[in-house]
Amino acid sequence: MPILDKVLIANRGEIALRVLRACKELNIKTVAVHSKADKDLMHVRLADESVCIGPAASAQSYLNVPAIISAAEVTNATAIHPGYGFLAENADFAEQVEKSGFTFIGPRADTIRLMGDKVSAIDAMKKAGVPTVPGSDGPLTDDDERTLEIARRIGYPVIVKAAAGGGGRGMRVVHNEAALLGSVQLTQTEAGAAFGSDVVYLEKFLQKPRHVEIQVIADGQGNAIHLGDRDCSLQRRHQKVLEEAPAPGIDEDLRAQVAEACVNACVEIGYRGAGTFEFLYEDGGFYFIEMNTRVQVEHPVTEMVTGIDIVKEQLRIAAGMPLSITQDDVKISGHAFECRINAEDPHTFIPSPGKVTTFHAPGGLGIRVDSHLYDGYTVPPFYDSLIAKVISFGEDRSTALARMRQALDELVVEGIRTNTPLHRQLVVDRAFQAGGVSIHYLESKLED
Ligand code: ADP
Repeated sequence: MPILDKVLIANRGEIALRVLRACKELNIKTVAVHSKADKDLMHVRLADESVCIGPAASAQSYLNVPAIISAAEVTNATAIHPGYGFLAENADFAEQVEKSGFTFIGPRADTIRLMGDKVSAIDAMKKAGVPTVPGSDGPLTDDDERTLEIARRIGYPVIVKAAAGGGGRGMRVVHNEAALLGSVQLTQTEAGAAFGSDVVYLEKFLQKPRHVEIQVIADGQGNAIHLGDRDCSLQRRHQKVLEEAPAPGIDEDLRAQVAEACVNACVEIGYRGAGTFEFLYEDGGFYFIEMNTRVQVEHPVTEMVTGIDIVKEQLRIAAGMPLSITQDDVKISGHAFECRINAEDPHTFIPSPGKVTTFHAPGGLGIRVDSHLYDGYTVPPFYDSLIAKVISFGEDRSTALARMRQALDELVVEGIRTNTPLHRQLVVDRAFQAGGVSIHYLESKLED
């Protein structure tokens, strides 16, 4: 008997294929749901069943909760995997799925809600001993004097952040006292309009941090472990471009200490499933910024250095099984990189959808490619531009990087433009090769 009978994959593209592969390996039947624009997706062809859930626009298809639940009903699916993006961190969706009698492959709805509000997330983390950014310790009130005082205590520059913000939106950096109250008000107004909540808070603005995150898995039955860390500092407009595991050049004791705090936090909040604690790292200190309650785009680098299949673990946990491994079983060895290949112009970053006339994936020892592309596939203009993830593994960082260089040379995507040339530059970049660049590095390099 498979651990779950039939999983509906409420997503598209490479992650839908990734989930499908894990299900197939576990003999779990699969249902693909897709928009009218996506009937030719690779996982739709490979799934046991498929259901068209609406027109191209995401709001009417991949974000259409009634359509997804109906698809699960008509196909007799028993569980729903949300992937990342779309409804993956929507607590109402998770609740609706469970209320309709299906298993949501992810944390409980109230956990998603707790972590979706940054103020309550930070509060929960502090209580569990996870290091956070010095800040207002809760929302700002309409007491202006108090707000000014908090900022003075933190010290400028500070950042005003919306509790309900996401995707790099709802934030404003303030450099001096004269600009503070105006910026707070502006962020409140914008947050109210964009997220339906005008709650904002203050944090110290770190000037040259790295983005380091810790992968956890927990079974919701009191067992939690971490799978080490990743460095995702190479970003453009808050979008990650190239990631690696483990994060280079971090003190081993500190690394272990923070990871352990994350594990404790999971136990404390009764976390269930895969999750990521995101930190800014500066001058030897970790500062929690948010938790993602889902599988992440960059999860493969962790899989490569641990040998653990994170999606399979998600499925096992959703089936009610306790964690099959303990912390002592987790051995992090070697190094891995992931380049996100996007259908976009490498210089202007303008999306470049269209027909892929030729796709040739690289290969060889230590190379993995997660992609839904095939010759003749048309990249639709409606969705995220991620078309492939090229992942390299090696016994050490320089071997993994050398393999990535070779893989990028082998990669062929014709018919559309991709950001492969940018990745080819990055992997030979001196500072990146040395390791440990800040989150501003890529943007400043692009400006030169
Ligand atoms: P979102 O949910 O929108 O991704 P985050 O809280 O994760 O918001 O912050 C997004 C990005 O904003 C971070 O990756 C970092 O680049 C920047 N940022 C957020 N908080 C701070 C801070 N306190 N200091 C410096 N940069 C910050």
